[in-house]
Amino acid sequence: MFIIRWRFCSMRNIIYMLFFIFIVLMFCRATAYSAEPPEMRIGITLSGKALELSFDGGYEIMNLNTGASLQLSPGRYKLVFSQGGIKILDRAGDSCGVFKGPLYLAPISSQPSEESFCIHNAVYGSEYRGALEISASGGEVKAINVLDLESYLRAVVPEEMPSSWGNYGGMEALKSQAVAARSFALYNQGLQRHDGYHLCDAQHCQYYGGKSKETDNTDSAVNQTCGEVLTYNGSVIEPHYCASNGGYTELPQNVWSSALPYYKSVHDPYDDPDNPLGLNNYIAHRYSTWEASIPLKSLGSILAAGGYGNPGDVKRIYVASTYESGRVEELRVEGTHRDVSLRKLDARSALGLRSQLYNVRAESEPRVWIASAVNNIEKKECFPELEGKWVASGYTINKMLTGEEFSVLGDGVKGEVPCLGYIFSGQGWGHAVGLSQNGAYNRSRAGHSYRDILSFYYPGAQITTCY
Ligand SMILES: [Zn+2]
Repeated sequence: MFIIRWRFCSMRNIIYMLFFIFIVLMFCRATAYSAEPPEMRIGITLSGKALELSFDGGYEIMNLNTGASLQLSPGRYKLVFSQGGIKILDRAGDSCGVFKGPLYLAPISSQPSEESFCIHNAVYGSEYRGALEISASGGEVKAINVLDLESYLRAVVPEEMPSSWGNYGGMEALKSQAVAARSFALYNQGLQRHDGYHLCDAQHCQYYGGKSKETDNTDSAVNQTCGEVLTYNGSVIEPHYCASNGGYTELPQNVWSSALPYYKSVHDPYDDPDNPLGLNNYIAHRYSTWEASIPLKSLGSILAAGGYGNPGDVKRIYVASTYESGRVEELRVEGTHRDVSLRKLDARSALGLRSQLYNVRAESEPRVWIASAVNNIEKKECFPELEGKWVASGYTINKMLTGEEFSVLGDGVKGEVPCLGYIFSGQGWGHAVGLSQNGAYNRSRAGHSYRDILSFYYPGAQITTCY
């Protein structure tokens, strides 16, 4: 009996032991897997179809097709599309050969993270860390910068938020931007946002300007939040952010279509142009309030060009419905041909408005227009800033420009230009979902931590350290 009991206990212990070992192994595996920042592939926007590249002795170019080094000495080269491959020209214009590729410029020094190379015709930067994958397709040479996520972020945060904010109480805002940008990169790494690389270096993804854009403040914001991302139920969230919410955050389904559970639509006193908290160091965004004037005559063609249908002559424009935040759900345009309904983001996109938080009124004050007819091509432009200004008319007479007046440039005289339009008055710049950069700045200046800032703008998300 004793022996049986002993054996039973032993077996249970063995099972416990095996289970324990299994858990430890799983933990070690997870830790090992996520100990390093993941590798990012960033498409570099080039001006022109070639790649203008220079590198020093810390780099070499490999041909990924053959696995061999190209044995190119350090210097400056121009890589052009040729015969379906990549032709490399040296500084004198002499050919160093044509390679099928892809080619790979990789750091070979003992401290690869400290090495950098130059792309002289990159649109958004010049000096880059990491490696460069170079391929040829569609008649042009393409460049993909391959580097670890943390190095990537050092050149994203200063492009997305002013580094100087760190000198005026905004370090916590820079840290909240670092976490949002890191989450954006990781969330989109798994999506097919681009063919062959994870993110581009333009506004479509996040601006990335390479090593030359790095600053001490933003490096510090990235380092102090190393590996931290926003998660919901264990997965990285889709983190939207924008310049200024005009005083009220928004739900993603009120701007685009899909609802996400970690967003809320609430008043944001730290980005409200009225400064309701009476903060003495409050900073209003430069577009915390804005106005846009759209001439009536342009409206039909703007809407037709945007694919919303041509209303004909516009009779009336009005806000048909709004969300709780005050953002416009539907803008109606009544025309002689048809009525056009612009929903959610449509009006912003079609009319080029800074935000979806606006009201609209008919332009009651006539404005100054200038009409010209040069070579029989008529052109009319509205110059509201000329209202009340004196101009020389003819040889001797000075006259004041007032509403419905017009002046004529060029060689033809045209009649009075009718002056009717609509004025959109709004608040904020951007979609207002998630982090408001201006709101984060004011919160940081008021003493909020980056964790406080993120929990306000992503109320359902948690901060998780993923490596
Ligand atoms: Zn992109």
